Amino acid sequence: MMTSPTIGFIGLGAMGWPMAARLAPGHRLFLFDIDVGHAERFAGQVGGVAAHSVAKLAAASDIVITMLPTSREVEAVLTGADGVLEHCRKDLLIIEMSSGAPQQTKLLGLQAADAGCCMIDAPVSGGVPRARTGELSIMVGGSATDIARAEPVLKQMGSTILITGALGSGHAMKALNNLVSATTLLATVEAVLIGRQAGLEPARVVDILNVSTGMSNSSQKKLHQFVLSGAFNSGFSLDLMVKDVNAAMAIVNEHRVYAPISIRCAEIWQEAARVLGPGQDHTAVAKAVEMLGVISVETA
Ligand code: NAD
Repeated sequence: MMTSPTIGFIGLGAMGWPMAARLAPGHRLFLFDIDVGHAERFAGQVGGVAAHSVAKLAAASDIVITMLPTSREVEAVLTGADGVLEHCRKDLLIIEMSSGAPQQTKLLGLQAADAGCCMIDAPVSGGVPRARTGELSIMVGGSATDIARAEPVLKQMGSTILITGALGSGHAMKALNNLVSATTLLATVEAVLIGRQAGLEPARVVDILNVSTGMSNSSQKKLHQFVLSGAFNSGFSLDLMVKDVNAAMAIVNEHRVYAPISIRCAEIWQEAARVLGPGQDHTAVAKAVEMLGVISVETA
């Protein structure tokens, strides 16, 4: 009988915590977060062992999953002093599930191979609610052998596993997904603002878009819930969305693609990050548009 792999999970934030919780039944889990309290709380509430260093986690694991803000932190935990690659077992499989930068991921894959490890990129879509229920969409890049090895683990976190090609292609696809998502959110907020000037009530605009061809994930899952309610607490930060849009722009620039809407969209998100400052939810982009346009989109 095959035994389940021991998994080292690095990054127990908004997404990492519920994703690791899906793996707790049936796996030996080692946990690490730079905020030591996260790993200890997880071990106490859900299970697994809080590793006090990345080195200890790497030495104990067959598979290491990273769910970190950006490729910068992934690089630090993999290649830094006392990092995963210095302390891993031979044939370790790294599953990079953060929304990373494709070019950096490809370079990390080469460094992993030099250390005798395998790596795939497997970023996710669906947000915190679908992370909790194990219904994420997972976009997977890497070799067929490595993906086959990861599949049983991925299936515990996601209901849709989508193979995209070579290492880095999952991250490219994820950047494009979020570029579209960032564009529809801006377009929908603008429609509400324009509608208000035309005498239309914001909630009514969203209701009608939701049963018409202007519908999108942004109109259905974000406008009422996080924008018009004034809650601005979707669980996905504005800084992370800007990072994803910038990753898409890096592809545009590298290949000199004609993409005027995407380029303008990226500029507005970057402007929003500047006017709002750090620590904002991504749905607060509506506040930035409001500040820039001086019109309130919140219902009274
Ligand atoms: P988060 O900021 O909530 O969590 C990141 C975690 O990583 C934190 O607990 C932090 O302490 C930890 N961390 C940071 N640097 C570290 C380091 N060097 N070593 C160890 N731990 C470190 O972010 P999140 O919302 O969970 O997002 C994680 C990734 O998933 C991002 O790439 C994001 O773009 C992507 N993503 C997020 C969502 C969402 O809805 N939140 C959805 C899909 C994808």
